[in-house]
Amino acid sequence: MSVLILAEHDGKQIKKATRQAVTAAAAWNAPVHLVVLGHGLQAVTAEAAAIAGVSEVICVDAPALAHALAEDVAALLLDLAPKYQVILAPHSAAAKNALPRVAALLDVAMISDVVRISAPATYIRPTYAGSVLTTVESSDAVQVLTVRATSFDAAGNGPAVNIVDHAAPAAQSQARFVSATHTVSDRPELASARVVVTGGRPLETRFDAILNPLAAKLGAAIGATRAAVDAGYAPNDLQVGQTGTVVAPELYIAAGVSGAAQHLAGMKDSKVIVAINLDPDAAIFQVADFGLVADLFEAVPALTAALA
Ligand code: FAD
Repeated sequence: MSVLILAEHDGKQIKKATRQAVTAAAAWNAPVHLVVLGHGLQAVTAEAAAIAGVSEVICVDAPALAHALAEDVAALLLDLAPKYQVILAPHSAAAKNALPRVAALLDVAMISDVVRISAPATYIRPTYAGSVLTTVESSDAVQVLTVRATSFDAAGNGPAVNIVDHAAPAAQSQARFVSATHTVSDRPELASARVVVTGGRPLETRFDAILNPLAAKLGAAIGATRAAVDAGYAPNDLQVGQTGTVVAPELYIAAGVSGAAQHLAGMKDSKVIVAINLDPDAAIFQVADFGLVADLFEAVPALTAALA
């Protein structure tokens, strides 16, 4: 049996989540193949080939795949599927779009957001925004799953393996790429940052003014609650939680965050959690290692100044 992993990359580099998915795949004790798709993939495939635990890299390089539309990704995975018993990807927005299509087309179950693989077909995954951990077992001949990257260590490097070219399936006509708007930031990527500073609703229009100096001092990524995003104080891609990004940094600082279950679902695995909140009964304090009952508009600037 073999495991196929859909690699996540940004066109230049393999994302850490791909390395974490490789560690998850080790549960099968079987050959692990990494499929890298896109356009202009030389650097990415070379990096992929050096990930320890990967036995082959499949490179699918075509102009039509430059934006990796879910319909095209699903068609490609379906094309490769007959050789694999497991098709796996990190639980990213792109994989959440592509893999359920593959599962549906193969007529097998989609197993999402797996945090532990306890036997080759037995998985543990959070439900009810992480309030319950469910054990699920699949008897499907092909297992299609996404794994929560932060629950697995990142695989390191090993000896380089073979890179095999594979032809892209004919581009489908159901969807076409129109445009993409990328946020340009010199901050670390939220999903893999070592430190995250998150702000909630009370920051209002002072979201950036209060959080940016602290994040800059700590080399941190900035996160936001859904309330802050919905109110327009922070952009959508900063949302942490059940319907945002799941993070597990070394240090998570939550300022003015109530600690709703949907928010905790995205950050409670952080190593050290610091919460600043006016309300001593705020739910965030139940998961915090260090809690400060204080006004964030005084505490955050004071902390920033102390770090100077
Ligand atoms: P609030 O709940 O308004 O809390 C603000 C907190 O700030 C309070 O605890 C208050 O005491 C404190 N505060 C006020 N002023 C100050 C001050 N000056 N100094 C210090 N503290 C202060 N939420 C997410 O975050 N991520 C998700 O992915 C997400 N997904 C959801 C999915 C679904 C299906 C649903 C229904 C909800 C989801 N939510 C999500 C929303 C979630 O339920 C909460 O509404 C949201 O997290 C609250 O955001 P908040 O803590 O910023 O705001």
